[in-house]
This record gives sequence, structure tokens and C-alpha cells, in this order.
Amino acid sequence: MSALDVDVAIVGGGFGGSFLALVLRRAGLRVALIDRGRHPRFVIGESSTPIANLVLKDLCCEYDLPNVAPLAKYGTWQARHPQLVSGIKRGFSYFHHETGQPFVADAEHSTELLVAASSSDQHSDTHWLRQDVDAFLFREVGAAGADCFEDCEVGEIESVGQVFNLPLKHGQVENLPHELRTRFVVDGSGEGQFLAKRLKIEDRTHELRTNSRTVFAHFADVTRWKCCLESHGIDTAEHPFDCDHAALHHVFAGGWMWQLRFNDETVSAGFVQDLNRGERPNLSAAAEWESWLRRFPAISEQFANARVVRPEGGLRSTGRLQRKLARAAGGWWAMLPNTAGFIDALHSTGIAHTLCGIERLARILIRSLGRDDLESQLREYERCVRAEVEMIDLLVSGCFAAMGDFQRFATATMLYFTAATSYERARLASVGEFRPAFLLADDEQWLAVVRRMCDRLREACSIEQFEKEMSEAIRPFDVVGLCDPAARNMYRHSAMPEN
Ligand SMILES: Cc1cc2nc3c(=O)[nH]c(=O)nc-3n(C[C@H](O)[C@H](O)[C@H](O)COP(=O)(O)OP(=O)(O)OC[C@H]3O[C@@H](n4cnc5c(N)ncnc54)[C@H](O)[C@@H]3O)c2cc1C
Repeated sequence: MSALDVDVAIVGGGFGGSFLALVLRRAGLRVALIDRGRHPRFVIGESSTPIANLVLKDLCCEYDLPNVAPLAKYGTWQARHPQLVSGIKRGFSYFHHETGQPFVADAEHSTELLVAASSSDQHSDTHWLRQDVDAFLFREVGAAGADCFEDCEVGEIESVGQVFNLPLKHGQVENLPHELRTRFVVDGSGEGQFLAKRLKIEDRTHELRTNSRTVFAHFADVTRWKCCLESHGIDTAEHPFDCDHAALHHVFAGGWMWQLRFNDETVSAGFVQDLNRGERPNLSAAAEWESWLRRFPAISEQFANARVVRPEGGLRSTGRLQRKLARAAGGWWAMLPNTAGFIDALHSTGIAHTLCGIERLARILIRSLGRDDLESQLREYERCVRAEVEMIDLLVSGCFAAMGDFQRFATATMLYFTAATSYERARLASVGEFRPAFLLADDEQWLAVVRRMCDRLREACSIEQFEKEMSEAIRPFDVVGLCDPAARNMYRHSAMPEN
């Protein structure tokens, strides 16, 4: 039986585990990457953001990853890796629906909200067809000289002094190492919860405010929403970007729907149900999907000819999406953000949060592995990840509480857009290492504003009063002119400057 000695073993070869493996390998560490699945495989969670792309670009620059760097923008991605399916994401678009009613719009855009994130298609953010991107990154890790194992299960961890033994059980391939000996373990297994199960880490999901679930798939032949609007005589001339080249949200009382359009004209779509306002229906995924479409005639029209193309088994339905663990790191281990906690697809925080975690954890491991300050650095990493999960939970749950009242919802999203645009601008202007937490989660003053406004949201104050208070509350942090009545819900200047 052969054993393999490495510095870091990463369990979970999704994009997060693979990206960290690439970075650590480029810094000269010996790395093993293990996934229990086999690429390419279907994964949900596809919409990137300006923060995700800023961090991706910086990581590729700092660790010299020229083959991955083009993924930071739609234009360079198309030029370098056109075979990896992606989509243009110029921003976030939201449309309000009433049960049983057609979609209606007015000159004030009181049922629409569009917030630009990028100023041109070339410089645009992207939707990632994850099965393509994850497989590509996993191959890059192998090419960089790390040991990669697919179709491989890791057994119980055994510690021998400062070394940790991980038994490997391979699927079909023979003559592979049956044990890893490592100095450090990273858990990038997401909902697989590799370390939480082995270290019996307490589950703190009950502390989260957000409580949601979803039914989703990828579809072909979904009519573009812009075409639906125009076919009903609704003017889209004031939209700052094509509303389908976006993370498109249909919002209603009790939930919302995402639509992400890829350049192969397939669409990732899912209905998200707020479990704080209703029980999971006792229906098959297909029957549930049809029941959502029956509720919203305009969305039903969009999906009149649609058919599921991915995943192979058809529509998937989930239980509660959220998770939060009591710990995110210890003396010889750490979890990537998506393993330590996850909130919801709303605001597309997952990819950006994962990349921020990779940036921070990579610095710690490269500088401190084998040194006395490793433990204190990991405590700081844990504190930061936990603060970020709390911030995302506040921003997302506030929006859920406002769904059904679109003006209140649109005002509530301003907290997220303030945090995101403020982080982006500060990062763009910074020189040297950028340290603040994702979405300003470690800024006490900002946290107090978000907590206060999320409480106000749930109190019976008038919309005029709420808008006024929100505008005043975000002002010290707002760098792009949000909560502007003159914008009439069409925000063009929020787009990140081209860089
Ligand atoms: C419904 C939904 C919608 C989302 N939408 C968005 C979005 O639009 N934008 C966004 O930014 N984020 C979104 N997210 C979040 C996004 O999916 C995650 O942030 C992202 O997948 C994190 O990547 P990862 O590689 O860290 O983890 P994952 O993608 O979860 O990968 C984990 C990997 O670990 C492997 N694994 C699991 N257990 C084990 C084990 N025991 N041993 C070995 N390997 C194991 C799995 O096979 C998998 O390959 C969404 C999430 C959900 C649930």
C-alpha cells in the first residue's frame, strides 16, 4: 500500500477546492485534491459578480495563472476559452409579480429594478456553466503538478504528531496511493460536510434568519423576458442593459425566481420558496414546477415551450438551503466559506465569497504553515468567515421579508448594492494587499446600519419613511448614488469602472 506525502490535502474538487489547489501549487506547496465525484458533473450556482471577478483577476495576477485569468471578463473568456459555456451578466434585474395577474409596468418603473454591474459586454461579468468551469479548473490543477483524485472517498482521519493520515478509497482505478500524509486539511466539500462529520462540529443553522428552499433545472427554449415585455407593449428603452443579460429575478410574495442565460441559449432557472412564510409542498419536483408556473401567467408564457436539458435526472427539488457551522477553522484544518456556511442564491454571493476565502486562506497557508502564528491566523480567518456569513444572512433575509411589496423590496436591496459597490471601489483604489472582509462584514458601523435597517424593515413604518431612513443610513457608505428617486429604479452608474 503506497502513501503520498503532501503539505495540504483539499477535500472537494469543485471550483473552490480547485482554485485554492492551483494557487497553493503555484506558491510551491505540495497539494493533493480529492473529489468523490467525477468531472464534468452538473452543479448549481453560476452567476458571478464584479467582486468575484476582481478577486479572480488579482489571484491570477499574484500567483501567475495566465490560463485562468481570461475568465474574469466575458470578452477575454470568449477570446481564450470559447469552448467553456458562459453567459453575459451586465447586472441584476428584478420584476414584481402578483399571483394570477399578468405582469404590469409603468413609466415610474415601480414594478422593475435594474442595477448595472458592468458597462459593456466585453467587460461584463459572467454566468459560469459550472460543469465546464469546474472540469477546466480541475484539469489545470493536475497540469500545475498537484495530485488530483476523482471518484475517491476519504476515510477517517488519524493524527500522528503533526501529521494527519487520510485513507483513500478509489473507485475503479487501481495502483493509486491508498493514504495521504498531510500537514493540513482544507474542506471544500460544501454540502458534503466532510470535516463537520468527522470532527463532530456543531450545526448552528437554526441561528440563521433566512429559511428557503428551491426547485430548479437548466432549460432550452425559454423565451427572452425582454421579448415577452415588448410583445405586451412594455417599453424597455430605459433599461440600462438587456434585462436577460443579467441575473434576472422574478419577485413575488413568498419567494422569487432566478434566470441565468448562457450563450448556448440554455437558461438556469429556479423558484425559491420562503419557508418562513409557508410549508414545502408535498409534490414531485415536476408537479411543483407546474404549480409555480400556474401562479404566474407571465412566467408561464416565458416557459410555454421550455424543456429541461440539465441535469440528466430532470428538475431537482431541495429542502432548506441554509447551513451554518459553529467552526470554520482549527489548528490543522480550515473550511472554505461555502462549507462553513451558505445562505441563498439571492444576491449571487457564493462565488465571490468563496474567492475571498481562498485569497485569505492561501496567504495564511503560504506564509504560516509550519510556523507558530498559524493558529492565530486561522482564528482570524474563522472570525472573518463567520462575520461574512452573518452579513449575507442579514442582507438576504431582509429582502425575503420585503418580497410582495416591491418598493420595500427594491429599497431593501440597496443595502446589498451599497456594500458591494463600496467594497469594489475600495478594492480598486487600494494599493498592496486588500484586507477588508467581503461586503464590509467586519466594519462595525456598517454592520450596525444593516442590523438597524433590517429591523426597521419588519416594523410597520410607511414606505416613504423607510425610503428616507434607508437613504440617510447608507449615505456614509454609498459611492454610486443609490436610493436616488431620480433614477426611478434604473441604475446605470452603479456599473464598476472598467479596469
Ligand atoms: C440553489 C443555489 C444557487 C446558487 N446560485 C449562485 C449564484 O448564482 N451565484 C453564486 O455566486 N453562487 C451561487 N450559489 C453558491 C455556489 O453554488 C457556491 O458558492 C459554490 O458552489 C461554491 O463552490 P465550492 O467549490 O466551494 O463548492 P461546491 O461547488 O459545493 O463543490 C464541492 C465539491 O466537493 C465534492 N465533495 C463533497 N463531499 C465530498 C467528500 N466527502 N469527499 C470528496 N469530495 C466531496 C463534491 O463532489 C463537489 O465537487 C448557489 C448555491 C445554490 C445552492
